[in-house]
Amino acid sequence: MPAIPSSPTLARQFALAVVTRLRAAGQEAFWAGGCVRDELLGRVPADFDVATSALPELVRSLFGRHRTLTIGAAFGVVTVIGPPGAGHVEVTTFRTDADSSDGRRPTAVTFSTARDDAQRRDFTINGLFFDPIAGDVHDYVDGRADLAAGIIRAIGVPTLRFGEDHLRMLRAVRFAASFDFAIDTATEAAIVQMAPLVASVSPERIAAELRAMVSRPGRQRALELLEKTGLATAALGELAPLDSAGTAAWRTAGIIVASLEQPNLSATLAILAENAGREKLRQIAKRLRLSNREARTADWLAAAITELGGMAGEHLQSRQWSQVQPWLADGNAALLCDVLRARATGGRGSAEAAAWLRTQAARPRDEIDPAPLVAGNDLLAAGIPAGKVMGALLVRLRALQLDAQLSTREQAIAWAQANRLP
Ligand code: ATP
Ligand code: MG
Repeated sequence: MPAIPSSPTLARQFALAVVTRLRAAGQEAFWAGGCVRDELLGRVPADFDVATSALPELVRSLFGRHRTLTIGAAFGVVTVIGPPGAGHVEVTTFRTDADSSDGRRPTAVTFSTARDDAQRRDFTINGLFFDPIAGDVHDYVDGRADLAAGIIRAIGVPTLRFGEDHLRMLRAVRFAASFDFAIDTATEAAIVQMAPLVASVSPERIAAELRAMVSRPGRQRALELLEKTGLATAALGELAPLDSAGTAAWRTAGIIVASLEQPNLSATLAILAENAGREKLRQIAKRLRLSNREARTADWLAAAITELGGMAGEHLQSRQWSQVQPWLADGNAALLCDVLRARATGGRGSAEAAAWLRTQAARPRDEIDPAPLVAGNDLLAAGIPAGKVMGALLVRLRALQLDAQLSTREQAIAWAQANRLP
């Protein structure tokens, strides 16, 4: 993965400079794949890839050993490090990928021509080359027509292409959703037929695709397409709908996820898991090897939804503050408020409760989470030994403070001494 450039302008200039240098050495060189697609769509590419006739060794010597990384050199990929802010450019020698034996990675590559290199790419819209010096597009796969018509179409025979790399099925859904493109009929039929094979893709790659799908516009459609093609069962089996009620719940989840202001994988999984439950959510977080942080956030949100999400407005507001406060004192409080508001747009939970919680969350930090009246040391000094009893006392004291039953340190110590016997 190339470093994300901090300046799109610098990244573009650097990508142009890389092509210019390769050309000056007598080689063919083009911008290739996603960056060409994005530019033609009028979007700012996340990063630039260059495809060239130059072999990796030549690329290294042209750009210098200290400015190149060769982790992917066996596949013809040399990463060229740009000046500050410009990110990196991946320079890949034109190649043909030999069939992968397990549907995951090419087992061997053969260096070849631009025309062949276009054929190894996944979708026609991702198979374009652009000459940034002449300003010409080189299209060996009819990608421009599909880009104009808004179609995701596998290059070549879809079942063969998905058989080589099962991840491509998830990529098809991601691109269709994020560009709001249709999936070509034969391509979609192949996905439906081969969807179960996605289960053999590495969990990290599946998670990366899902993460990208659900954190962008088009995420509702991504969830719909996952469900419709059977990819939901293959990639998110623990949460996938099992019957028509499950399908309806999945669609409602899509509406909710679409309305999130802070969309991410944790929130999406917590919302999708409302039917299946927290245990299934934990299983999927583990299976997809989510980061600890993502897994914890998803689990915490699921717990919060159960705890606060069903309440009618008045109910939540009349609850003891000490029961609501811990959710708002958490670093994920803003995300929780977003999730509860979004759920209400999908008809789950109360919009009033969500709005009330959001108002509470907007209060100053020291009002939401005031310093405790007493700590363990204060109780020790008052003659209460450390241990379970003290722990329980501190929890009770905190609740009484939050519920405005106790307002000074002295009151708290006196209460502890009076209630020290369990
Ligand atoms: P984005 O970076 O916006 O997610 P992208 O199309 O640039 O989309 P990358 O993973 O950066 O995706 O890959 C760059 C290019 O490499 C693609 O446009 C495509 O031509 C090719 N490519 C990437 N992954 C695959 C794959 N699994 N199978 C075939 N070609 C691929
Ligand atoms: Mg890319």
